[in-house]
Amino acid sequence: MKLEVDERRLTSEIEALAAISDAEPPAVTRIVFSPADLKARAWLKTRCEEAGLTVRQDPIGNTFFRWTGTDPALPAVGTGSHIDAIPNAGKYDGVVGVLGGLEAIRALQRSRFRPKHSVELLVFTAEEPTRFGIGCLGSRMLSGSLSAETARQLKDSAGASLDEVRESAGADGKLETVKLPDAYHKAFVELHIEQGPVLERERVPLGVVTGIAAPASLRITIEGAGGHAGAVLMADRRDALSAAAEFILAVENAACESGSIDSVATVGIGEVFPGAVNSIPSRVRLSADVRDTDLTRRDVMMEKIKIAGEAISAKRKVSIHTELVNADAPATCAPSVVEALIESCRRHTLNFIPMISRAYHDSLFMSRIAPTAMLFIPCRNGYSHRPDEYASPEDIARGILVLAETLAALSR
Ligand SMILES: [Zn+2]
Repeated sequence: MKLEVDERRLTSEIEALAAISDAEPPAVTRIVFSPADLKARAWLKTRCEEAGLTVRQDPIGNTFFRWTGTDPALPAVGTGSHIDAIPNAGKYDGVVGVLGGLEAIRALQRSRFRPKHSVELLVFTAEEPTRFGIGCLGSRMLSGSLSAETARQLKDSAGASLDEVRESAGADGKLETVKLPDAYHKAFVELHIEQGPVLERERVPLGVVTGIAAPASLRITIEGAGGHAGAVLMADRRDALSAAAEFILAVENAACESGSIDSVATVGIGEVFPGAVNSIPSRVRLSADVRDTDLTRRDVMMEKIKIAGEAISAKRKVSIHTELVNADAPATCAPSVVEALIESCRRHTLNFIPMISRAYHDSLFMSRIAPTAMLFIPCRNGYSHRPDEYASPEDIARGILVLAETLAALSR
């Protein structure tokens, strides 16, 4: 089997997909089920049909592109990622795993390889939480980690329900049918940019992921008392924004004091009411993201944040209400898939290191229903979720080569 990756074609496809966006280039914005997302999906479908893959879309819009194996009754070997992008993002997050997965399949086809197990390229709906406030919507539902009933309660920021949004985007059918049957996949492998600096710093082209960090997200509402910024005396104030400032630092401290580089905590959203320069803020809404590769350590951070919130609330006479949006368990990658990746790296004499994914991926949920692992490639300066996100064609091609070799090994 002689595997060759068509680097030029892939680069032009990455550019073509990036051009389907709601942001000025080089930025990419592609919110799930927006016109840009739908156009991107249609574009991708054409590329996959050209490769002879059959297409199935489930009721949440997850798309399965299948290269049917010689024994179609066997569980499929899956690969894939997402094409939705947060506002003002880059071209590579998710896309490398989708277009890379497609090119891996095409490379195998060109080599005249015939899989015994079907090989399936998955494109997950809404990996990014932008529209519905919850990440990995599609893979959560596929794995049964989010029930149809809970999903139906979701609304986007304009107040439209998930059912309204998906149906108007052409994803219809019962959400109950999204969950995959048991043993649907023999294995799942996701190719992704690292979104961190380790591979570049270590000058290693590939990272074989052995575990995925566990994120938890919180929505915090702080209620104080408003009033005239001139008239209310300092001693009488219950300023919600000042309380929020202390709370944000407490979140940061919880991670800094954990003693592990794998502990991180971020307040990424802050909304201030009423938001006037001469008005004391009466209410602040914050969103926090707390994650770790170790569940116990993350729980310690969450507890510290809770205690700090109680202290701030008492001291400043504000109410602090914390809602747990989600708290997912970390995943350990499947040794069988990790081994297949390592063996493929060796076969092509490519250097690799084992690593942990600190970012959140669809693979976290796929790991609950299928033996799963991930393959990371370097990205410049570790930048991601910004317009200057970049992965070189050579690095992407190396990742695809190892992915193709791994898909072959698993689907034989
Ligand atoms: Zn991603």
